[in-house]
Amino acid sequence: MRALLHVFRSALGGSLRAFLRIPAAGHAWPKGSRHVRPAGTTPSREALDKLAHAVPTFADIILPTAAPGTFTYLVPEGLMGEVGEGHRVVVSFGQGRKLLSGLVVRLHTEDPGLSDIKSVLSCLDTVPIVSSKQVRFWERMAAHYMCSLGEVMLAAVPGQLVLTSTTKLIAAGGERPAWSGDPRRDALLDMLGLRNEITLAEAAELTGMRDPMPLVKRMLDEGSLLIAEEIGDTYRPRTVPYVVLVEDHAGEQALHALFDTLERAPKQLEVLMRFIEQGRCLSDTPRPVTRSELLRTVEGGAAALAALVKRGVFRIEEHEPGSDAPDRKAVPLPELTAPQQAALDQVRAAFPTHPTVLLHGVTSSGKTELYMELITEQLAAGRQVLYLLPEIALTAQIIGRLRARFKERVAVFHSRLTARERTELWLRLLRDPAAPTVVVGARSALLLPFDRLGLVIVDEEHDPSYKQQDPAPRYHARDMATVLAELHGACTLLGSATPSMESMYNARRGKFGHAELLVRHGRSVLPTVERIDIAEAQRRKRMNGHFSQDLLEAITATLARREQVILFQNRRGYVPVWQCETCGWVPECAHCDVSLTYHKQDHGLHCHYCGRAYPPPAHCSACGSPRLRMLGFGTEKIEEDLTLLLPEARIARLDQDTTRGKHALERLLARFSEGGLDVLIGTQMVTKGLDFGNVSLVGILNADQLLRYPDLRAHERAFHLMAQVAGRSGRRDAPGKVLIQARDIAHPIIGLVVAHDVNGMYERELPLRQAHGYPPFSRLVRITLKHRVEERVVLAGEALARVVAPWFGERALGPEPPLVARVRDLHLRTVLLKLDRGNYQREKAVLATALERTFGMGDHRSVRVVVDVDPG
Ligand code: ADP
Ligand code: ZN
Ligand code: ZN
Repeated sequence: MRALLHVFRSALGGSLRAFLRIPAAGHAWPKGSRHVRPAGTTPSREALDKLAHAVPTFADIILPTAAPGTFTYLVPEGLMGEVGEGHRVVVSFGQGRKLLSGLVVRLHTEDPGLSDIKSVLSCLDTVPIVSSKQVRFWERMAAHYMCSLGEVMLAAVPGQLVLTSTTKLIAAGGERPAWSGDPRRDALLDMLGLRNEITLAEAAELTGMRDPMPLVKRMLDEGSLLIAEEIGDTYRPRTVPYVVLVEDHAGEQALHALFDTLERAPKQLEVLMRFIEQGRCLSDTPRPVTRSELLRTVEGGAAALAALVKRGVFRIEEHEPGSDAPDRKAVPLPELTAPQQAALDQVRAAFPTHPTVLLHGVTSSGKTELYMELITEQLAAGRQVLYLLPEIALTAQIIGRLRARFKERVAVFHSRLTARERTELWLRLLRDPAAPTVVVGARSALLLPFDRLGLVIVDEEHDPSYKQQDPAPRYHARDMATVLAELHGACTLLGSATPSMESMYNARRGKFGHAELLVRHGRSVLPTVERIDIAEAQRRKRMNGHFSQDLLEAITATLARREQVILFQNRRGYVPVWQCETCGWVPECAHCDVSLTYHKQDHGLHCHYCGRAYPPPAHCSACGSPRLRMLGFGTEKIEEDLTLLLPEARIARLDQDTTRGKHALERLLARFSEGGLDVLIGTQMVTKGLDFGNVSLVGILNADQLLRYPDLRAHERAFHLMAQVAGRSGRRDAPGKVLIQARDIAHPIIGLVVAHDVNGMYERELPLRQAHGYPPFSRLVRITLKHRVEERVVLAGEALARVVAPWFGERALGPEPPLVARVRDLHLRTVLLKLDRGNYQREKAVLATALERTFGMGDHRSVRVVVDVDPG
């Protein structure tokens, strides 16, 4: 058994999730029955009959596997009354007598009629750890995305709560817990003292227990054990520096004395005065002052502040932003403007007849203010609110605003929390009726145990990162938000300045309600957008590398006004392609069919698909020529070029490469927002949700590249990206400007960005989608087949195409190699199906059967199958 486990573990890389994603040999399709194969003790038929007359005897259990459906086990007499719906139980599963903890979703007396059936081994909980509403939600999700309930459960339930034989245990840090007199517990602790980690299976051997999970669970609860994945998970909430007046100087008298001593240090005096003002030190309602807030008002005050700290006047303390934020009770709530009030009325009026409403509000129109009004109402009615954001990392700003208004009723949930923090929030929501009632989170927050949701807000609903790519469930959070809301009888508000085609379509058809807020708040107006023809600039010798003279001049003028600039280039690295000038050879990854991107930082050629890096070649591998030229450019190159062109400017880059550290992103954004940077260059990360008052110029370096991507949504995405990044400009008083560099400046999509014409984009794209039978006129399902041997995957693709052809006909496309046809040594082929919107449930069933027939048995069993419903 140990050998087997070892094989498993090395194949699985230890991660629970990976384990479920890769049923090592191909896809585990149902083998005709949803019930577990027998092993171990088999109760007699008589005993079964006797039990069936008593209280519920059978338990339908969700197990963490990729096999569909639930599994029925017998509840032994000794556990009756203990095993309940929503409880975790331990069962053995499969040939290897693997132990798994699963979730009971139904207790009943319907004998599944198996000649033999396994029993539940033990029960881990005395109260449910999921709610029945959650399970219903999981079922809807699994059905829609054609994945198993086990996969949804794994995505939903914090890792700490799902135990399997391969779960790795480690000793909790700190002092060794006291001896308990329980020899098994003490044996485990001893072993953990000797070894770094042991698996649950090893714990079973060690303790001689067939099922060590109840013991392990007790030890997890008492804190003497940890699950290995938790370690290294040292996320700390972001803190910001606050300026605190040292107690000796508090009070009017002490302050006056201080003024005298600072007479000959006017800058320090100024900093102190500003601090007193901002911190309302002499009033009854003093408030904390952040360092950045203070320095914003005193030009060049940093040195003076440092001097004051040195003098012992101030000290700097790190706190969570907003944790002890200014008490807003004293500050009047912002009053909605007339257009905002009108939009809010529209939303409210629509909800009774349309549980989902699309709020189309231009950037900086005050959508967040409307959300907060609606949240206030829900809280007053005692209901919960879920506020979804596409990327939690970029939204510290919004969380700050919510905390300021709703205080400790706001909870944050996202993948950067530690396993422990996630488990804690989960259990609090489940058990504590007074638990946080506004949950702000990324898509996975949908899976929390809500009890009385009144409203789900999906901010920036058009954002593609709402769609989960890997592993299953490959769900779209916007679509699942409406399902979740429906289960709770709640409403859903979708907000965006650039709504998705799907949502616009649903709004226009009357499926969704619709509200509009088309003016920016206050004095700020939508930025002016201008095009720069790169080809012409080149002819006229008005290009400096990748910068047109016009863009450079605009940057210089903006910096001269002490305003800030954002530059958008949707490609990271230095140059995307090296090419042999003689024969056209391009270096590619040895494991993926994709050209490599040169990164100057480490002088390496990187594969953006598998992450490998290679040393750059000195000669062409095909013809030996030493003449290699560089094509295209990425953010790294832009940063370098601009630094040479504007040596005085303070420039930073925001992309995956510069934000790897846990707090790198927050630090970078904080520096920019404090005015410590003049220019921020970035990939699509700069387009999302940032609210910087001082940005008055946005430059898009290469619009052509956005428009050329071969994808059905390329034009929609390009429009969204450009319109959103444009929206970062001129959000307060300074009027904003946007410059778009392109060769194809006449491209209609660019014209629509110039005109801020969301409706025009929709009207242009919709007929194209209709003509080709693409969403929103159909539902897509993309099946990706993977295998190490190309021939196998080709044959499998052809076989699948043959099986689906009779039903789907022209609506089945492929098999064809995707854009990158080999990733990490696996050859890929895709088949794309356009499902009939009106009949897609039926068609999914047809597909499921086709997949089972093709991959469940026979030649193609070893091919890995990934099914993606509504691919992004
Ligand atoms: P959006 O979410 O549409 O981008 P925001 O809600 O972030 O817009 O509003 C943009 C800016 O205007 C924010 O700084 C916000 O505080 C401010 N603002 C919006 N509406 C009001 C209002 N009615 N009163 C005061 N400030 C407002
Ligand atoms: Zn060559
Ligand atoms: Zn690669």
